[in-house]
Amino acid sequence: MAKGRYWLQTLGCPKNQVDSDKLAGLLETDGFVPSACPEKADLVVVNTCAFVEAARQESIEAVLELAGARRAGARLVVTGCMAERYGDELASALPEVDLVAGFGRPLAPVGSERMVPVGAPAPRAAPAAAPVPVELGAPRGRTSPPPARSAGLASFDLLSLPRPASAAPWAYVKVAEGCDRRCGFCAIPSFRGTQRSRPPADVLAEVRSLACAQAMPVNEVVLVAQDLASYGRDRTAHHGGARRAGSPTPLVSLVEAVAGMVRRTRLLYLYPSALTSELVEVVLATGVPYFDLSLQHVARPLLARMRRWGDGERFLERIAAIRRAEPRATFRSSFILGYPGETEEDHDELLSFLDAAQLDWAGFFTFSKETGTLAARLEGQVPGELALERLRECVELQDTITARRRDALVGEVREVLVDAPGRGRTVHEAPEIDGVVRLPASLPAGSIADVELTASLGIDLVGAPVGAGR
Ligand code: SF4
Repeated sequence: MAKGRYWLQTLGCPKNQVDSDKLAGLLETDGFVPSACPEKADLVVVNTCAFVEAARQESIEAVLELAGARRAGARLVVTGCMAERYGDELASALPEVDLVAGFGRPLAPVGSERMVPVGAPAPRAAPAAAPVPVELGAPRGRTSPPPARSAGLASFDLLSLPRPASAAPWAYVKVAEGCDRRCGFCAIPSFRGTQRSRPPADVLAEVRSLACAQAMPVNEVVLVAQDLASYGRDRTAHHGGARRAGSPTPLVSLVEAVAGMVRRTRLLYLYPSALTSELVEVVLATGVPYFDLSLQHVARPLLARMRRWGDGERFLERIAAIRRAEPRATFRSSFILGYPGETEEDHDELLSFLDAAQLDWAGFFTFSKETGTLAARLEGQVPGELALERLRECVELQDTITARRRDALVGEVREVLVDAPGRGRTVHEAPEIDGVVRLPASLPAGSIADVELTASLGIDLVGAPVGAGR
């Protein structure tokens, strides 16, 4: 008999979605079943995001909303990055919450002795009527020097857990947790810790189970990590130092192996210096020529202030080289506007870069001053309104470029993977972050079909089948 019903709400990035999948697997192993809605659940779990202030606010609003929606007696648990970063403060700031729990230890259902709270369990109080801002101070971790691993930091508990079968024909697979870089704006290493890569055999076993699932076999695996290109470096160091000259990097070997098991292998979050010819070749060989480059800016002095590699010229050279090898290659990136010290010249350089690079997709964010990061202490903070103005300029320019890139696909024939009736994706669209291809509802979820792209509608395309679906 089921122990109860759970509702799991996920905020933030694809990496968080993977954690949620693992949590769901754990809860189901423990005898819980999914609830159709939060109002009917016995256990409500919110997997939060702490990336920037806006994400934190959204997480808190979700917690408060669910606190108000849950039925009497249901327990409310907050986990994820906010719990990792602000555990104790969150527990005292949100009396509605029964437990704030980090990923550093197993998150078991309420009432189980396996559950270990980060913050002290708070007494229940009447839920707040409306979302209220919660002031959070310094995080529990630190960014520099590299944080020591502790019981409070994320561990492999979640990464290595089994997960339920995917409800879609694609799935994120997280291959590592944490990050060894120290980008000036980023607080992630302070609460997710240094990089810990999963053994390749574990990753491949997970891919195999997803690909062989009876109900919905996964045809597309999206590999994610905080710093995907560095996958396995920690393991190489752990097992006797540098890899042998000429041998493939751990990521290259992993991508080759995964590509042998599923139709599509997609990589997200590639640090630009790691985009070696070897990695480009293996990505192109998968048949998914999609490059999600984490660039953040292009002005060299600003990138140096961010403690990041590269400049616009080098990025353009790399993109051009990939396009020479594969003219159909798709590029995505993200950029920060208003990083401390960003000048008008830096901003103009970014606009020129966008114009020259003709990226298919790009995300823009205004700088968020994160406690404990290098950037929070830097001089030359850019007023928020100016950062927003710069962001609007970039969005406006990129929107026209994206529209042009989408228009250019009209008339082409492409293979689509049908995510759900009426909606699918070619290799040019990553799930959940890019546009989609609108399809006839007769194509069943999970099927693969060749379609002619007949029109573009904003960021979406319209596809008409040209042969029998597979
Ligand atoms: S590589 Fe990504 S996760 Fe790592 S410090 Fe830089 S921005 Fe943060």
